[in-house]
Amino acid sequence: MPDLYGAIDLGGTNVRAIVAGLDGKISGDDRRPSRASDGLDATIEALLASLDQACSEAGVEAGGLRGLGVATPGWVDTERGVVPAAPQLIGWRDVPLVEMLQERLGITALLENDANAAALGENAFGAGRGTRHMLYITVSTGVGAGIIADGRLYGGAKGSAGEIGHTIVDPSGPRCGCGNNGCLESLSSGTAIARRAAEAADRGDSAVLAGIREREGRLGARLVADAARQGDAASIAIYEEAGRFLGIALANAVNLLSPEAIILGGGVMQAKDLFLPRAEETMRDLALDEPLKYMRLAEAELGDRAGVMGMIARLGQQAG
Ligand SMILES: [Zn+2]
Repeated sequence: MPDLYGAIDLGGTNVRAIVAGLDGKISGDDRRPSRASDGLDATIEALLASLDQACSEAGVEAGGLRGLGVATPGWVDTERGVVPAAPQLIGWRDVPLVEMLQERLGITALLENDANAAALGENAFGAGRGTRHMLYITVSTGVGAGIIADGRLYGGAKGSAGEIGHTIVDPSGPRCGCGNNGCLESLSSGTAIARRAAEAADRGDSAVLAGIREREGRLGARLVADAARQGDAASIAIYEEAGRFLGIALANAVNLLSPEAIILGGGVMQAKDLFLPRAEETMRDLALDEPLKYMRLAEAELGDRAGVMGMIARLGQQAG
């Protein structure tokens, strides 16, 4: 049997655990609710149960794994293996997750932020294969990113690099959760799309959106996409605008980093037909020719496996 490693992607909704070799071949795979709303202990229990299930599928004891990598949302202290706090994980505050897991399982563990893990995954096993300089962007409830520079994750001074969601693309734009105005996240995330749709319904700009809100009791980005595909002009305009602002951020990223590839993932990509053409057009219009020449824009390939595959890649870097 080849050396087997464990990887866990812990989110606010689900936890996923896999057992795999460093070649990325998966021999055990489990996914279940992370019970994040039930607090720290329940979530740790779900995480361990998920790993146990993946291990038994692979025919290995958790203690027999060669290493364990865990991805969690928000900023993490990778050096100390501590999760400071994450809005998605209720009751987590300065949790020494690596130490807890090492003690419980008797194997070495390491920690990474989930967007960085997904970047590593796409770089090693997905759409960014073969590149040494790559940017991964996830457009979801929020907007996050991971930077691969010279084949390694670029964390900056203390690991908090990659916050493209809080780069400002319109200083007169709406207020962002971080306190500034016009951050990319406040203009192109799923949350931003839903908010703009609610505003359009309030203003009476779209009877279709008002009708959907009445029927469904809410207006999520996916419902706005449905309305746009049925020809609702306001919904089409909302996605086009989200695309334009994403394009501005992409152009800035191209000029700053000159990556070989920018890989786009996240739930909002399910509506890529509605915003990606405008995003790419804007990026090509605004970015400098020279870095643009060597760059390709591509869709993420690994879907919700990106995080766990990234942790396998990370363990491989550590081992090799
Ligand atoms: Zn912000």
